[in-house]
Amino acid sequence: MFAIGNDELEKCGKLGKSIQCKMCGKKHHVRYGEEVLRDGTRKPSKMLAFYKCKGITYLAGINGKAIGGKTWKNLQHGGT
Ligand SMILES: [Zn+2]
Repeated sequence: MFAIGNDELEKCGKLGKSIQCKMCGKKHHVRYGEEVLRDGTRKPSKMLAFYKCKGITYLAGINGKAIGGKTWKNLQHGGT
C-alpha cells in the first residue's frame, strides 16, 4: 500500500499535534484520518495523519510516526 518500509518508519520521530512544514517552514495543525468500521461507525484513526499547506494535502505521518513532506500524489505513485 505504501512505499515506506517499517525500518524507515522506525527512524521517524513521534508525531505531535502540529508539524513543521518543509514547504513553507511554518507549523501546521496535524489532522488525523478516520477508520470506518464494518457497521458504518467512524472512529478517529492515527493510522494516517495529514496537513494542508497552500491548499495541498501532505502526508504528515503514519501510525503515529512523523514522516512529513510526502504528498499524496507521491504516495499513490509509489515514489519518494
Ligand atoms: Zn506549509
